[in-house]
Amino acid sequence: MHELSLAQDIIAIVKESLEPQAGVSLKTVRVSIGEMAAVVPELLHHAYDALIADTPLQGSKLDIAIIPVTAICHSCKKTFGLEEYEFLCPNCQSSDIEVLTGDEFFIKDLVVA
Ligand SMILES: [Zn+2]
Repeated sequence: MHELSLAQDIIAIVKESLEPQAGVSLKTVRVSIGEMAAVVPELLHHAYDALIADTPLQGSKLDIAIIPVTAICHSCKKTFGLEEYEFLCPNCQSSDIEVLTGDEFFIKDLVVA
C-alpha cells in the first residue's frame, strides 16, 4: 500500500526535524503531493493516524495539498494542465511536452505548539 509507505516517510522526516526541539508538540504537518503520485488523501490520513497512535506525534494532523499536473509544450511554448494523462499538447497536439509540476512530494511546513 502506497499511502502507508508515504506516511512512514512523512513521519520519519517529521521525527528527524523535531528532534532538536525537545518539548514541542506537533499540531499539523503540511504536505504537498503531486497529482501524479495518485495518492488518495483519505487513505493517507488513515495510515498516518494509525502510525502515530501511542507515539509522541499522536493527535497531530496531516494537511494534504494536491498539486495539479501541468506541462509545457516545446512546439508552441504553451503551458497547460494535463488531464487524464493525455501526454499531448491540447493546443497543437504535439507530443513534445515536458511535465512541470505534479510529481512532487515534500513537507511544506510543520505547525508546532
Ligand atoms: Zn503545443
